[in-house]
Amino acid sequence: MDEYIKVKGARVNNLKNVSYKIPLNKLTCIMGLSGSGKTSLAFHTLYNESKRRFLNSFPTYLKFFSDRPAAVDVDEIKPVLPVFGLPQINPVVGARSNVSDIMHLTELFQNHFYHYSEELCPLHKIEFKPYYLSNYLQTIVSADGAEVYHVLIKADDFLNSLAGQVLPTRSMKSSRARKILEFDKSHELWEVARFKQKHLSSIDEKLNDVISQNLQIYLYSIRLNKVIPVHYKKNQFYCEVAGCDEQKVPSRSALNFSPYNAIGACDECGGFGEVLSYDIAKLVDQEKSICEDGVLFLNYKRFLSQKDELIKVLKKKKISLTDPIKKLPKAFWKILYEGEDKYTGFDSYFRYLERKKYKMHVRIFIRNIQKGEACTSCAGTRLSYAANQFFIDTSGDISLAWAMGQSVQSLYTVLGDPSINLKRATNESKKSLKKILEILKAAIAIGLGHLHVLRKAKSLSAGEYQRLLLIKYLSYEGTGALFIFDEPSLGLGQKELKGILASFKKLIENKNSVILIEHNINLIKAAD
Ligand SMILES: [Zn+2]
Ligand SMILES: [Zn+2]
Repeated sequence: MDEYIKVKGARVNNLKNVSYKIPLNKLTCIMGLSGSGKTSLAFHTLYNESKRRFLNSFPTYLKFFSDRPAAVDVDEIKPVLPVFGLPQINPVVGARSNVSDIMHLTELFQNHFYHYSEELCPLHKIEFKPYYLSNYLQTIVSADGAEVYHVLIKADDFLNSLAGQVLPTRSMKSSRARKILEFDKSHELWEVARFKQKHLSSIDEKLNDVISQNLQIYLYSIRLNKVIPVHYKKNQFYCEVAGCDEQKVPSRSALNFSPYNAIGACDECGGFGEVLSYDIAKLVDQEKSICEDGVLFLNYKRFLSQKDELIKVLKKKKISLTDPIKKLPKAFWKILYEGEDKYTGFDSYFRYLERKKYKMHVRIFIRNIQKGEACTSCAGTRLSYAANQFFIDTSGDISLAWAMGQSVQSLYTVLGDPSINLKRATNESKKSLKKILEILKAAIAIGLGHLHVLRKAKSLSAGEYQRLLLIKYLSYEGTGALFIFDEPSLGLGQKELKGILASFKKLIENKNSVILIEHNINLIKAAD
């Protein structure tokens, strides 16, 4: 078993053939004046070369990693460990990933809500009831015990449903005819069942056997001489509060709780949490005039020829070419977007770009002239409506959509409250919740309590991002790896420094090695 990582003959940047040993399974701190080569030693040599060699150790067909570092001028590094470097930059550019993803909360919550939640009407916080036609009819049919009702459906529906296996004995010419006749297949409505008012509840069973889907049914009573259309709902659950049209989702699936698939993702934004629209500020510089090329969009090569056409139209309409665009009348904007004569307008260019979206450079171009706004349909949670219907507490306050709208601190406060009444408080659910709470607690301890869990990773400061990665690494409980941090103390108070130190100790307990580049005296003192 090695006790050290040995580096021989490092000649990166200002390092002049330096050899050094770093103890394994310890907290090591690299100190020195700025410019003395700390970063060259830790990141440019140890991190880059370890990562390159580690990735190269995979068979060729597994070499799909794109950010493979270039070879480094060093004679030897031994042993080569899987390495996690947390430099003082935030390299994230992707649009989708957020704080909850990096901390693994997305997955943990998905699992927790799938297993331990129950459905409630999101508005009235009561359980959904199965739909019974008889309940619904209670208020419609008369109290006359002798009354007979005929239940009819359209001929096509009849043939398409389970009832279609046997022809009916009675039918009705049309919904206006109001007369039950011997069956004739040219009739519009065919009878599927009959029931007496006093046996109203038998209708549920009868229709369940013969109708296979939601459809329009028609009730006819001879005495009332009236045809009543009723929407029959097959196998549905509904909120019984009058006027509430909340309905239960078809089935409970783990997919309901993840934004990364078609079922769980918000329909409106496709699981991005924001919707993109063309940004007027990037299309038009309203301080400039037309002559000063204020219509920025038409300066792109592809649309350049359209600029002359626009000018022709504006001259004809006597709209100023020299006034700042912000002073131009409404008619200008209508022409600009909708086009006129040979000038075809922004709207048609947008459609053109959308059609060419399969090309990478077009996608990049579009992204540059669009802006994102939080999706109003999912409130940025990225999740489909089902995320509002499942609750883990009995009072119906804690849904996945609610959880995703919180900060790390408020999630910890609410979920950690022992008086919270969990719906399915089993040992398993407690274990699952405990894991979530541990992550939240660790994040708060190192000063991340203020982060909104939906905050986009790309918008985090470098220090926040570095600490967030620390939480991610802590939660996966790996072993035998090397972690290198660049000034993790930056921007932290005394209490948070203690928290981060405890995190390092935990990594070392799990048989990892930690290297810090650090100026903070408390962290330096704490090093092995
Ligand atoms: Zn309701
Ligand atoms: Zn959405």
